[in-house]
Order: sequence, then structure tokens, then C-alpha cells
Amino acid sequence: LRKKMVAGNWKMNGSVELVNQMANAVKAAELDNVDVVVFPPFPLLSNAINTGLNVGSQTVSHEEAGAFTGEVDASLVYELGCKYTLVGHSERRSLYGESDSLIAKKFARAQSSQLIPILCVGETEQEREQDLTESVISKQLDAVIDDLGVVSLDKSVIAYEPVWAIGTGKTATPEQAQQVHQFIRTKIAALDADVAQSLIILYGGSVNESSSELLFAQPDIDGGLVGGASLKPDSFVSICQSAQ
Ligand code: 13P
Repeated sequence: LRKKMVAGNWKMNGSVELVNQMANAVKAAELDNVDVVVFPPFPLLSNAINTGLNVGSQTVSHEEAGAFTGEVDASLVYELGCKYTLVGHSERRSLYGESDSLIAKKFARAQSSQLIPILCVGETEQEREQDLTESVISKQLDAVIDDLGVVSLDKSVIAYEPVWAIGTGKTATPEQAQQVHQFIRTKIAALDADVAQSLIILYGGSVNESSSELLFAQPDIDGGLVGGASLKPDSFVSICQSAQ
């Protein structure tokens, strides 16, 4: 049985005060049956770690140390005390030009630094309308599987985030999301049944406290990657509770 996970991606939001409020709210809720992780901006990582929250970074460099001004090394993120990093979030892909092959390198660098990468995949609205959802997601997954092998997914998490559902208030229906999650698990099962069985696959895209329960009840949805609602301690805790 897979343990549920709820991850809060703060994007370029938050403050020291929000870290403290979130930590207090999460602690008070005693969320024992769900892995709760927050992804604040880099300058807040240490504060968040010091509260005892599980913490991850929103991206990492694919490079190790060197002359890469502004980039952040995965091994430093791990040394600080982070357990996870997002890799290939749709905003990194669309706004910062991250390609599938760069994302595969970041995934590898995260794992070699002992961080668990959360690989984000998802189709745009246009791709869905053109019936390309499965082929787009296949290509995004294959970029990692072809380079690093299917076993690399063993110490990772996948997040399915349809681009049309991110920040739009348009959540995928539980059926729409389940269909894609099942596609992802079946695709991976064809290569390695054990990896597929234990793989945590999160849904992201306008998850809130009203939509989370039915989404998380789907057989192949193991929790959520929450954006906007993860900035409100009460909402985030409610979403976490609905995963228990
Ligand atoms: P929203 O929950 O704000 O739609 O963001 C989803 C997301 O991108 C999480 O990574």
C-alpha cells in the first residue's frame, strides 16, 4: 500500500512568517498517515527545515559546483536538510525553456545528491484537445527512462499537472486525472511491475479543500502537488487531512 503525500509548491511566494504559521498549523494537525512536504523559495529553506517540516526545493541545477552564477547545487540543498526537489515543473519548462533532456539531467543530479526528485509532467490545453495527452506525457517520462533506466523511478515521485489546470481554478475531474495516472502507472508497469506498484503519483492543478478528497480517493492518485492553496495554512492542512 502506498502512503499518501501532499506537497505544497509555494512558487515565488511566502515569507519567514508564513513558514512559521505553516509549521504550527501542520504540527497541530498531527498528520501521521500522510507525508507532508513544503517547497518554499530557496532563501526560506533553512527556516522551514528548522521548524521540523519536510522540505524540498523547487528546482536544482543539473551541474555540480562551478561558475554557474545564480544556480543552486543539489548536494547543497541536501546538506541543508531537504529531502526532495521538484524537477521539470511546467513553469520551468515554459518560462525558463527547460527541455526534457535538461530535466533528465536535473533528475539524475538530484538522485546522485540523495534528493528524491518529483518529476512534473502534463499536457497543455491544446495538446489535450488534439488528443495528444498520452503521447506528451510518454515523451516527458521517456526522457528520464531512456537516459537513466526505469529503476531510476524507484526513488522518485511523479506529479501529473495538466498545464490547463495550473493556477486556473479548472481542476481536472477525478475521472480525468485517474485516467492519466492509470496510463502513467500502466506504462511503467510494462517495464517494471514493482517500480510501478510502489511509485507515488501526485495530481496537481487547482487542488483545493473542496476537490482534494475525491481526487485522492482515486486508485492511482497518491496525493497532491498544491500551488495556491498551499499558501493558506488552514486550506493546506484541510487538503492534507483529506489524504489521510
Ligand atoms: P495551483 O494549485 O495554484 O493550480 O498550482 C499547481 C502547481 O503548479 C503546483 O506545482
